[in-house]
Amino acid sequence: FESKLPNLGTSIFSQMTALANQFEAINLSQGFPEFDAPELLKKQLNHYVLEGVNQYSPSSGVPRLQQQIAGLAKRKYGTAINAGEQVTVTSGATEALFVAIQAIVRAGDEVIVFDPAYDSYQPAIELAGGQSVHIALHAPDYAINWQTVAQAINSKTRAIIINTPHNPSAKTLKQQDLDALKTLIVNHDLYVISDEVYEHITFDGTRHLSVMSDDVLFARSFVISSFGKTFHSTGWKLGYCIAPTALSVEFRKIHQYVTFSSFTPAQHALADMLEQQGQHVDELSAFYQQKRDVLSGALKESRFTILPSEGSYFLLLDYSEVSDLNDVDFCHWLVEQAGVAAIPLSVFYQTPNNDKIIRLCFAKNDTTLIQAAEILCQL
Ligand code: PMP
Ligand code: GLN
Repeated sequence: FESKLPNLGTSIFSQMTALANQFEAINLSQGFPEFDAPELLKKQLNHYVLEGVNQYSPSSGVPRLQQQIAGLAKRKYGTAINAGEQVTVTSGATEALFVAIQAIVRAGDEVIVFDPAYDSYQPAIELAGGQSVHIALHAPDYAINWQTVAQAINSKTRAIIINTPHNPSAKTLKQQDLDALKTLIVNHDLYVISDEVYEHITFDGTRHLSVMSDDVLFARSFVISSFGKTFHSTGWKLGYCIAPTALSVEFRKIHQYVTFSSFTPAQHALADMLEQQGQHVDELSAFYQQKRDVLSGALKESRFTILPSEGSYFLLLDYSEVSDLNDVDFCHWLVEQAGVAAIPLSVFYQTPNNDKIIRLCFAKNDTTLIQAAEILCQL
């Protein structure tokens, strides 16, 4: 059998979590919260299941949830969204990314991806018959050189994928980045897939800049988010795509045949949550900033160099002073011998990468973070 994705194995997140379980290590590798979803959300899910709200929803989503999502976009970014036409509820951001890519990428098209990149982009591009063109960014600032991006564009280029706040670098795009992106998009007739799943998690007063807040950019964008990140419910696999009507029409054609519709009772529970406890969203940045500070504070005396984290729930550490191993070997050693699971940064790159950097997830209880830091401080 000739594989369509010959170079793909099991995702690093599954691998590291399995190793963490096997070696009973503290798992700061795969990104998921150790704490539970809000009580109201769980209660309302239970309520709708027991009330018998258990059949298909409309393919594009439960209308009252679409309304809440549009309301949130208006409140956060000032963008007027037509809930019925422009918001599509999906089975996680992963589905939304996959569908958006299938909607616009044709055989032979190129899509620009910045490395380190989230692992689901490239397989989706390849399955659409396209090719990902990787531009590598590096520590400590992971800045995008837009001149380099301009040089990578040719007649086959169809889209650019951005991710802000960024997994794994924890960097956020600035206004000048969005301005440069807009110039390229307009001049070369491209589309944007904007992965904004950590949109509500930014630190030290950093404001998340959504492509939605710019009419010209939004006109050519698919904006993707995830309730898993916002409501500590990664296992529910619910997210959404906001796109202009013409792009949403194409998106929905594919969403319809990938899954048709997403888990109905959870959509109602999420609508209740946004309606009744909208402040949860506004409190998320402070909640995670405290966690980032607990972890980085507890690592101050270690030999790791802590890189700045502006958003997301990740922190990067440079371990050059701790070990000469490459990052994959170091992470294996760390989980097996030291008892802490982390993700090596090189797996997010397409090209060979010798940076000595690992990613830690701080969506964990303070005691877990302190326990992990105590181990890391001894290395
Ligand atoms: N994009 C990024 C950058 C992510 O970190 C994640 C979650 N790991 C996703 C997309 C996928 O989100 P979901 O779990 O909602 O599919
Ligand atoms: N997004 C999560 C991370 O970056 C993992 C999601 C997954 O396991 N697919 O760790």
